[in-house]
Amino acid sequence: MHVHEMVAEAEKTGQPSFSFEYFPPKTAQGVQNLYDRMERMYDFGPKFIDITWGAGGTTADLTGEIVTQAQTYFGLETCMHLTCTDMGETKVNDALSRAYKSGCTNILALRGDPPRNKEKWSATDENFRYARDLVSHIRQKYGSHFDIGVAGYPEGTDDNKDEEQLLDHLKQKVDLGASFIVTQMFYDVDNFIRWVGKVRDRGINIPILPGIMPIATYASFMRRAKHMQCGIPDHFISALESVKNDDAAVREVGKVLVADMCRKIIAAGIPHLHFYTMNLAQATRLVLEELNWMPTTTRPRKHALPWKQSLGLGRRAEDVRPIFWRNRGKSYVARTQDWDEFPNGRWGDSRSPAFGELDAYGIGLTGTNESNRKKWGEPKSVKDVADLFVRYIEQDLDSLPWSEAPLTSEAESIKQDLIDMNKRGLLTINSQPAVNGAKSSDPVHGWGPSNGYVYQKAYVELLVPPALFEKVLPRLHNHPDMSYYAVTMTGELKSNAPSEGPNAVTWGVFPGKEIVQPTIVESISFLAWKDEAFRLGLDWSHCHDADTPSRALIEGMMNDWYLINIVNNDFHSPRAIFELFEGLSVDGLEEVPTIEATANGVHQPVPGTETNGAAAVAATA
Ligand code: FAD
Repeated sequence: MHVHEMVAEAEKTGQPSFSFEYFPPKTAQGVQNLYDRMERMYDFGPKFIDITWGAGGTTADLTGEIVTQAQTYFGLETCMHLTCTDMGETKVNDALSRAYKSGCTNILALRGDPPRNKEKWSATDENFRYARDLVSHIRQKYGSHFDIGVAGYPEGTDDNKDEEQLLDHLKQKVDLGASFIVTQMFYDVDNFIRWVGKVRDRGINIPILPGIMPIATYASFMRRAKHMQCGIPDHFISALESVKNDDAAVREVGKVLVADMCRKIIAAGIPHLHFYTMNLAQATRLVLEELNWMPTTTRPRKHALPWKQSLGLGRRAEDVRPIFWRNRGKSYVARTQDWDEFPNGRWGDSRSPAFGELDAYGIGLTGTNESNRKKWGEPKSVKDVADLFVRYIEQDLDSLPWSEAPLTSEAESIKQDLIDMNKRGLLTINSQPAVNGAKSSDPVHGWGPSNGYVYQKAYVELLVPPALFEKVLPRLHNHPDMSYYAVTMTGELKSNAPSEGPNAVTWGVFPGKEIVQPTIVESISFLAWKDEAFRLGLDWSHCHDADTPSRALIEGMMNDWYLINIVNNDFHSPRAIFELFEGLSVDGLEEVPTIEATANGVHQPVPGTETNGAAAVAATA
């Protein structure tokens, strides 16, 4: 989506929006930390993020890589900065082509700062001397594919303080095709509003996105304001001076000052704010909280689908995925990145998706052997492994080899059932509870357009030893509502599903739309997932030295155990899928009391159903 359209939407709905700027870090660890932060800050609800371009193209490759990651894996709408510094036509075209291929549709076109080793800016290629040259080049080459932003300076630049001249140059950039303006940071709102008036008087009517720098510490606030030569209103100084040695107090006072400034800007008719995050979450979060703009459990971030959509090239219309990768979204995107088309509307029966080979995409367990041993210990028995799974569901562990992120609150309604199963050695690696018509606005289960209803079938995926599988099998075959697929690492697929084709396990009914069925279970993708699931287990076993009991235990489990997925097609009966396993346990693991005997309040009623029939997508277990 183009930035100018996002701003237009904010204007139309009267719901202010915001975006975040990040810069490419210098170290590999810094890049990893940035990805983690970007993913967490996704939940703050930015409309887009932008990634700066290193002076002199020093971090050019990294900028392109971060843009690709953000678009493709995190589903974040991205704007890539691009400058003329040390750039000729070939390099400019390479950068644009990479942005295009990543699915990015927004570029901030800049002249660029001089490289660190040069005091003054000079052109490498006379055709790329000013930002306007980039603007016209992008328009000529890509037509309207990219929305093009340019920089605006309410307080002048360090090499030009002549406001009228800067406005002339801004007008040139707009006339050549720029479609939004992002300003340099400022704290003087009165001056900004005056400047906006002058911009509008020049007949420039494209959106203006004010650059807001939250206050993290007194020293960094003063340093940045000085570096950017931006004026600091007296009331900022008087409020911050007295607390300047106390960072926490500076952030508290700073968030109020910056939030006040944001309110004043919004009141002046500017609907979108652009935050310079400096790659940190806290100061920006505090301002958003002060503005009451942060999503909360009662006012959650709206998602179009129950899983995070990729915005990679050609993927925007993708709206069906197998449930198996629910807890490993990035690996799904990586393994399907070479597909020519993505399922849209339904996962066709005739489709035979060629999932990428595991090795080609670096799919495997992350973390070093040592860090994984520290996290998951050195299990010596199935009970030790089961204890880990139980700890994960109790939210005492934030990941397992099959689940990259902590269990979400969506699992709350089936948490006790999952704990009971895992205590008995039935190791659940993915699950979702039944939902029978929760509102699409429901804070826990809702997704999709307003005024709709969402549904899902209970689903559980687990690892079980062969002896136990033999006991579950007749129960599955005798149950009219359960369909299953089961397979060992090298074995044949077993199933009672009436067809190999898709079984929708999540669907939504919305006004004026066909039914949307974004999550399915089917055989071919299960076989692709099975390779990954067993591989993750083997990777885990290899975190332990060859002759250790832990290696032998986990490797043995991967070699012998079954991976089973079960769908309860009767979405009115939320507990039947767990009742299927009643009385069953892995040898040596004692049984826990049945569910009726457990404490009250564990199985919570589900929104939208009297029969307790619903609720919550349980991210794994
Ligand atoms: P231009 O608009 O080309 O202006 C540069 C200078 O040339 C100005 O003095 C202008 O008045 C003058 N000029 C423009 N057109 C003409 C003309 N036709 N004739 C004569 N003079 C002219 N820098 C980076 O290196 N990487 C980044 O990622 C980055 N991101 C930024 C993001 C924002 C929001 C802002 C405000 C700045 C950013 N910068 C970045 C800094 C920016 O590159 C510098 O401020 C640079 O000095 C000016 O860039 P510009 O795009 O405004 O250039």
